[in-house]
Amino acid sequence: MRLASAEIDLSALQYNLDKVREFAPQSKVMAVLKANAYGHGLVEIAKALHQADAFAVARIDEALALRAGGLVKPIVLLEGVFQASDLAIAIANNFQIIVHDQHQLEMIENETLDGELTTWLKVDTGMHRLGVYPEQFEQFYTRLLASKNVHSDIKLMTHFACADDISDGKTKQQLALFSQLIEQKTQQTCLANSAGVIGWPQSHGDWIRPGLMLYGVSPMLNQIGADHQLKPVMRLTTKLIAIRKVNAGETVGYGSAWRASKNTYIGVVAMGYGDGYPRHAPNGTPVMINQRRYAIIGRVSMDMISVDLGSTVPNGIAIGNTVEMWGPSLPVEEIAQYAGTIPYELLCNVTPRVDYQYIK
Ligand SMILES: *Cc1c(COP(=O)(O)O)cnc(C)c1O
Repeated sequence: MRLASAEIDLSALQYNLDKVREFAPQSKVMAVLKANAYGHGLVEIAKALHQADAFAVARIDEALALRAGGLVKPIVLLEGVFQASDLAIAIANNFQIIVHDQHQLEMIENETLDGELTTWLKVDTGMHRLGVYPEQFEQFYTRLLASKNVHSDIKLMTHFACADDISDGKTKQQLALFSQLIEQKTQQTCLANSAGVIGWPQSHGDWIRPGLMLYGVSPMLNQIGADHQLKPVMRLTTKLIAIRKVNAGETVGYGSAWRASKNTYIGVVAMGYGDGYPRHAPNGTPVMINQRRYAIIGRVSMDMISVDLGSTVPNGIAIGNTVEMWGPSLPVEEIAQYAGTIPYELLCNVTPRVDYQYIK
């Protein structure tokens, strides 16, 4: 019997890419595949996204893994590179690099390279994580343009801090600062992550860089993918492996963290934090069995979770039943809320013990 399993619906993925294009019909799409394609499987997801215009990853190793997997599209390194020897690797592999600080600029200026780098100059308009300060922007642009190692088609980028909240004024400020900085330039631009794509049409530049929404999940506060006509790509399931009875007053699991107020049947589900399910999911977090929700009770352990089946075993509930932890019938956004985190983290954290199945 196959236990913890992640079904990855590649047609839903392609459907979501079409939706992305409906949101931003004028923009090219760089599909963000960092962190093992948000836990969905880097190379398989990239292959299914053959209609994207480029890929984006966080680390050079992820980009090299895509090349090793046979993918040939341009790949953007969202943090750039951190050692001079990686510049030649970037050129040889058609990686486009972000330039976000003085260290990277000097590295580029000082190397002797066999070709020209395609660069994205990233400006910090308010996120205050990476990016050149607005007052440095012109100087960086001029110096990149002057470098023999850099292709003159320098592209321009910024990143939003609060785009998931459409009532937050910060995004408008960031947009205004960005357009003021680039005013006279005709360079290609890229601003929007998924939240920008969905919530801020005025941020759709020449390029967009959606991640989460491609996987059918909403980046917006208190919304789910279905609210934007997106389809969840991952369905995380396992099996019911035991049904037991506890009497009123007895406790279940580590730390005796749950106590039965009446005689109760308990379902034991083969899923735990060893599969990437969040240990912080509290009592009451739902799982889905036979299209009905059942509440988690007690602590999530490494390999198992207990659920409350009620005072009698419901019709149709039996050992071997499939249990959906999140997916099309149970939004991962909702599980994230219960667990006090965001869907990004839950998806990324699915572990290699889980059996991945790709459905075309
Ligand atoms: C991860 C990331 C994205 C994609 O963000 P989503 O919210 O998943 O769409 C875009 N840009 C940068 C710089 C990122 O780090």
